[in-house]
Amino acid sequence: MRIKEITPQEVLNYTSILLEVQNIYSSITTYREKLNDKFKRIENYKRDLAKYQKLLQKYENKKKELLLQKEMVSENLASNKKRLVELMKREEEIARNQRSIESFNIEITTIRATISTISEELRDIEEQINDIEDRYIETKEKYESLKIEFQADERVLQEETKEVSSEIKKLEDIQKEKLSKIPLHIAQHFSNILQKKKGVAIVSVGLLSDPKKFKEEYHYCTGCNIVLPYVIVEKIKLKADIVQCPSCFRYLYHPSWFEETEE
Ligand SMILES: [Zn+2]
Repeated sequence: MRIKEITPQEVLNYTSILLEVQNIYSSITTYREKLNDKFKRIENYKRDLAKYQKLLQKYENKKKELLLQKEMVSENLASNKKRLVELMKREEEIARNQRSIESFNIEITTIRATISTISEELRDIEEQINDIEDRYIETKEKYESLKIEFQADERVLQEETKEVSSEIKKLEDIQKEKLSKIPLHIAQHFSNILQKKKGVAIVSVGLLSDPKKFKEEYHYCTGCNIVLPYVIVEKIKLKADIVQCPSCFRYLYHPSWFEETEE
């Protein structure tokens, strides 16, 4: 039941508003993508910085662990060396006793071997400490330079984000204002379809006219390609109503409408 007849001029006006709104929606989508890119770049910086920080912490912990190990091994080395010195002091006294000189010599040899092994262990630990320190410095440099880069970029990114956001706000206001000029149910429905159909909620009808193939002309929805029923095509031709495709629910218009107005 229609409350109020819609005039052909209104059909034309509403359609052109819908097309404008669709264009604005597409611009808004592009701006939103830009905004997302900027957020992503900021997130990437934060993620990479956190990664470096974690690595630095890991190196610091490893270094602490190695220093502790070094201390223990050094103590062990010192006590073995001390033991050797003490034994050497008793060398002459032992030498007088033929029976104990053999076991004395074995003990000396063993301690020397132990000292050599511990010294090697110590050198290995020191090498590891050097390696960790090198890696720490390298990572720290990367971290610092990324931080500087981020600080410089962040300001620009935030500035740009603000600009893009205000641009989006402006466009949304224009969109709202334009939609307010058409009947509410169409405006709401149109907005829904824009969301659901990736920003394409109004399309022109296409003409299938191949005398060899078809006896008569057929019109189809260029949104979903379905051939449109005669009743709908007639309504469009007469500009009798704002018409939707029965299959994809996009709004339809005839491409000739706007060619005429431009001329
Ligand atoms: Zn369709």
